[in-house]
Amino acid sequence: MDARIQLLAFVFLNQVLTTAIWWVAGTWLGMSRKAARHWMVAGLANGTGLTLTVVNGGWRNTSQMLLAGVLVALGCISLRRGMQGFLRIRHTDGIHCLLLLGLGVFNLAVCGPMGWRVAGMVTGGLIASWVLWACARETFNPIRQEFNLGVARTHNALMGSTIAVFVGVALTAVFPDWRWPWFKLNPEAGQFALVFACVSLAICSSGLLMYFVVMRLVHRLEHLSHHDALTGLLNRRAIELLLDREVQRLQRFGETFTVLMVDIDHFKRINDRMGHAAGDAVLCAVAQTLQAQAREVDRVARYGGEEFCVLLPHTEHEGAIQAAERLRDAVTQISIPWDDQVISVTVSTGMACAIDTKEHLRSLLRRADEALYRAKAEGRNRVVVSETTQKCVA
Ligand code: GH3
Ligand code: MG
Ligand code: MG
Repeated sequence: MDARIQLLAFVFLNQVLTTAIWWVAGTWLGMSRKAARHWMVAGLANGTGLTLTVVNGGWRNTSQMLLAGVLVALGCISLRRGMQGFLRIRHTDGIHCLLLLGLGVFNLAVCGPMGWRVAGMVTGGLIASWVLWACARETFNPIRQEFNLGVARTHNALMGSTIAVFVGVALTAVFPDWRWPWFKLNPEAGQFALVFACVSLAICSSGLLMYFVVMRLVHRLEHLSHHDALTGLLNRRAIELLLDREVQRLQRFGETFTVLMVDIDHFKRINDRMGHAAGDAVLCAVAQTLQAQAREVDRVARYGGEEFCVLLPHTEHEGAIQAAERLRDAVTQISIPWDDQVISVTVSTGMACAIDTKEHLRSLLRRADEALYRAKAEGRNRVVVSETTQKCVA
């Protein structure tokens, strides 16, 4: 098969696939909707620009070549605009419109009629390079923060390679003598090699963008599966995993810790008298207070309904009681305005210290729960320490 047909098929396939993937991702799956639309435009524009380049073998037709330059620049601008939306960084729509309009007018209305092939080519290449350079610069830190340094460097390496290709094209258009001898002997094959390099870079770039979208989704799902939707605290599954790890640390290194089971007193009354929305507001306020009062190393979770679990690593009896009392006292200070009234609540806390290296997590949690029941039975708004803990300490 003719090399040009093969290359056209390659460019077309990449264009169709990229456009279809971003269309499905943005429209049907609702993944990063706006960014996906910009990347779809980028795929379409770059693909059409490269197709024009292949069709126009040897750059015989100046108008087609100049149009291809505008389309590639539009592709780069859409790519950058998509990244700005995806990473929620400042948009630069004004400058993008100016650049595109300027390039369009210059290439199609000035260079075309005047036959200024080189001027149009250099302007298109430099604008596309500047856009990619600006994109690499502004996205490096956000990508590093959300993903990691390696991914940010890979992204910049791809941008850098594409810039190198564009600058190379612009320079060799101005100084034809700088072309490699092979390019001079086979100008059409050289042009095809250039298109092949551009499509390969576009495929890698699309792959990286897809990685960004999928990884963000994975991170979101991870967050959802470990956090409570109402209060934003860790959920039961997450705290049980952390507690499991603490038990292993205790068994291996003897690092003790304490578990607090904190339950809001007479919470049902609030729901019954003031409605579920008021109950939810109380839950959020208590969650915030517990989180604010806990140390950074402590972990606070919503264990169920109106019950919270607090993990205090490296903390034993006296220190744990102080922490539990501090949390209990902080909750009594909360006042939630609701329908001309102010809601105040108290909590009861059951405390169990993990000291025995042979004790299982289930037994530890049962002790904390039993202590909580005693706190309720003894009149609420208090901290009760599990008996076994007291014996261990004694
Ligand atoms: P005690 O002092 O003995 O703990 O009494 P209580 O009323 O706090 O405890 P009880 O277990 O009788 O009631 C807990 C209530 O919490 C019952 C349930 O409807 C309510 N609840 C559980 N989850 C939520 C929630 O997400 N939002 C609201 N508003 N209420 C909830
Ligand atoms: Mg309760
Ligand atoms: Mg309860």
